Amino acid sequence: MKRILFLLLSLALAGGAVQAQTAEIKRVNPTNWWVGMKNPTLQLLVYGPNAGTLTYTVNYPGVKLVKAHTVENPNYAFLDLTIAASAKPGTLNLVGKRGSQTLTQPFVLKARSREPKGQGVTAADFIYLAMPDRFVNGDQSNDKFADMADPNADRANPFYRHGGDLAGASQRLDYLKDLGVTAIWFTPVLENNQPLTNEGGVMRSAYHGYGFTDHYTVDKRLGGNDAYKAFVQRAHAAGLKVVQDAVYNHCGINHWILKDLPMKSWLHQWPTYTNTSYKYQPITDPHGAESDRRVTLDGWFVPFLPDLNQSNPYVANFLIQHALWSVENFGIDAWRIDTYMYNDQPFMNRCNAALMNEYPAIHIFGESWVNNVVDQAYYTRNTINFPFKSNQPGGLDFVVYSAMLDALKQKFSWDDGVNRFYQALAQDAVYVDPTKLVTFLDNHDTDRYLSVIGEDLDKYKIGLTWLLTTRGIPSMYYGTEILMKNFKDPSDAEVRRDFPGGFPGDKENKFEAAGRNDRENNAFQFVRKLATYRRDNPVLHTGKLMQFLPQEGTYVYFRYDGSKTVMVATNTNDKEIVLDTARFAERMTGFSSARNVLTDTSIGDLKAIKLPAKTALVLELKK
Ligand code: CA
Repeated sequence: MKRILFLLLSLALAGGAVQAQTAEIKRVNPTNWWVGMKNPTLQLLVYGPNAGTLTYTVNYPGVKLVKAHTVENPNYAFLDLTIAASAKPGTLNLVGKRGSQTLTQPFVLKARSREPKGQGVTAADFIYLAMPDRFVNGDQSNDKFADMADPNADRANPFYRHGGDLAGASQRLDYLKDLGVTAIWFTPVLENNQPLTNEGGVMRSAYHGYGFTDHYTVDKRLGGNDAYKAFVQRAHAAGLKVVQDAVYNHCGINHWILKDLPMKSWLHQWPTYTNTSYKYQPITDPHGAESDRRVTLDGWFVPFLPDLNQSNPYVANFLIQHALWSVENFGIDAWRIDTYMYNDQPFMNRCNAALMNEYPAIHIFGESWVNNVVDQAYYTRNTINFPFKSNQPGGLDFVVYSAMLDALKQKFSWDDGVNRFYQALAQDAVYVDPTKLVTFLDNHDTDRYLSVIGEDLDKYKIGLTWLLTTRGIPSMYYGTEILMKNFKDPSDAEVRRDFPGGFPGDKENKFEAAGRNDRENNAFQFVRKLATYRRDNPVLHTGKLMQFLPQEGTYVYFRYDGSKTVMVATNTNDKEIVLDTARFAERMTGFSSARNVLTDTSIGDLKAIKLPAKTALVLELKK
């Protein structure tokens, strides 16, 4: 009893202290909203000293303040609004009162623009993944800022920022378009005002972008919000789509909200620091232990990327609204989600549904780095009887990624070599729509493709041929087309080198044919030729796939629809093979010749096709 009295007294004293201070509003997130959104609800996060102690009113036609939530920290208010379809664009005032104090905070409701957004990416697209800091530096005035937690930029240090930005990337849209690319995916562009962090004894910057410190600000070292908007507009004008890289699982340790959390449960907090195990099996395992699941899901990705608690409804709203705001504000077409499997999956479904409700054509593809089709299927729309059903339309295809590399690295045998690729696709029945998976040969977290296959240009072409002709939405990591190479040895910085020619003072400019050597031009022209053919031939987007059992190191598949049949015939052997085509009659009957789309030559006899050593032919069959 004494204890309760003491507690009440303490609260009263605390209340008195609050009364003595004035309130302020320093932030409102989202920073603006729109009239005419399909979902009429909005939850504003209002932050400032004692902002949660104000009594709020809104007087704006069509807008209703439904509820004002107070939380553990009196510096926050969460305001639930509804915005009627009849509401007009304009500035509403959030009026906060307490005693004699009245605060007025303007909040803008914009009209929705008619500019393209949420266009989605499909199998008709070819995505180019670039790290903006490492691609092109178009504005040297934004390379570094003394007022940021990491004030450095130094190209001589592989772990520091190098100065690449959105203005620079804008200058190379023609290059990408010419290459046959139809969509651009940047590693995250949001502000990462993170200090240098010690990773493995080396101080590293957050140039990769995965540690957000303000969800509503694009990093000023990339050019800020205006540069991002301008980039998207220029990309759209050039006919290119834009994919945004989203992170829901964690934020940066220097995120403004961490300095004064709304409530303890904003983050997954542990009695002592607990890292995720990075193990995905406990999530899908019907025999798995709950304690293992909790560590996988709620453990932190690394000590400087705190784990967000998405089962907290305020956190969920904050993240979902940010996703909608980004698409609407910048005109984003597709959404790539980082560390997808470490997120709370019911939250992911809510978030995906909110995006797809507002933008029905948008595509969403998360990163679930697994090594088998069952686990991969769990995180996308699937046909397996899991107790939890994901609504994610796509996903990055890590299974086909490893299978393609094994197919190029391993010697052919019963299960190995090209059988790996064949077998991965043979399990596609687990997906509702495998054509929505995003395929790739490497990315910013893996060894570069060229190095993995022993810098063998013949193998390089086989893998790219598969990537650009099999099912799925192909994506390519920047520089693959100019033979950038390296293993992640000694670190991932080796696979994130600057694009030669993208930076002031570069001795070589590999954006231009004259700056590339013969081998690089050979590779570039190969990608360009195939990507252009893919772009212009719907049979490679929506045509059916039929594959035949690999035999003696050969692997043959067809893409076909009512108007075209394309045969892809691979020989992974070191010697030429004459392919007897009798067993492919199901797809070849009625065709008498073919055009080799890579060489623009004709084949007059389809009964026996010469396959040179280490080659994949792409043949458009003719009657
Ligand atoms: Ca710059």
